[in-house]
Amino acid sequence: MLIVMEAGARPEQIEAVVRHVEKMGFKAHPIPGAHRTAIGITGMEGTADPEVLENYPGVKEVIRVSKAYKLVSREARPEDSVINIGGVDVGGNGIVVIGGPCAVESLEQTRAIAEGVKHGGGQLFRGGAYKPRTSPYSFQGLGEKGLEILARVREEFDLPIVTEAIDLETLALVEQYADCIQIGARNMQNFSLLKAAGRARKPVLLKRGMSATLEELLLSAEYIMSEGNYNVVLCERGVRTFADHTRNTLDLSVIPAIKRISHLPVLVDPSHGTGKRNKVAPMSRASIAVGADGVLIEVHHKPEEALSDGPQAVLPELFATIVRECDAIAQVVGRSLQPALAAR
Ligand code: PEP
Ligand code: MN
Repeated sequence: MLIVMEAGARPEQIEAVVRHVEKMGFKAHPIPGAHRTAIGITGMEGTADPEVLENYPGVKEVIRVSKAYKLVSREARPEDSVINIGGVDVGGNGIVVIGGPCAVESLEQTRAIAEGVKHGGGQLFRGGAYKPRTSPYSFQGLGEKGLEILARVREEFDLPIVTEAIDLETLALVEQYADCIQIGARNMQNFSLLKAAGRARKPVLLKRGMSATLEELLLSAEYIMSEGNYNVVLCERGVRTFADHTRNTLDLSVIPAIKRISHLPVLVDPSHGTGKRNKVAPMSRASIAVGADGVLIEVHHKPEEALSDGPQAVLPELFATIVRECDAIAQVVGRSLQPALAAR
């Protein structure tokens, strides 16, 4: 259920509704918008009496939300959400480009790539310290040492950091070091991890599972938001199909589909989406054309030596070209590149 407050509702009127909802044993989620505040009600499906709520001063209407997802929906918040990651806005009119290696391998490697990402015009830096790998014998990431390297690189280049947490233990560490917690495709339906991320105080980048439907992705975001963390950014990263000319099939049609029903920003990862370096630039341009709020690109200065995902990593020069081309496409659709934090 969703309670829509009048445009001029006073804070104490909103507070009174929240108190009533909580007294009934539900959780209240006030969602401020440009024109009005909505209050999402979640909890076990029970009966919060709409008539009682309708009569509270300042309440405009009470809407029964028939869909399973509520807080992620445009009914809760008609306008686009803008999520701030370490000082960089994701969503709204600007687009962002996140660049960085698949995995943090060393300080030297991470600095070299961060320099390329910064000079190429990227606003945010990525790199995994904990890598969920298909084989237990593949490089698993540097762990906390990798997080320390990322934190150093952030200071040096003024690039906020996005990095993946793979379980509850690493979530606590990632929350401490990073500006944004990534939840990867393989963990999209790890519900205890989603709930814990919902209690974290950093924004969450939630990647679509490789065989997840749109509704499943939105419900995973709902898990995070239902715990009180409303700073969620979605990411399409390709799904499994019969096609074998790419690693995954990048489902760009999901972008306008998400935009119709959810206010959350959504990024595209054409690196994992295609698995092939020569397809990353064209699919980045296409991502911005279909309405994505940005792209996430794997970059390596020596891809042939990369410890993971070398074949899909672009060189820093190509990264800079991708940023320029994304900006050009953004202009066509009435948007532009989000400014990067000023370099020191
Ligand atoms: C990654 O971004 O490094 C990653 C492992 O991606 P995904 O979870 O989409 O496979
Ligand atoms: Mn990777």
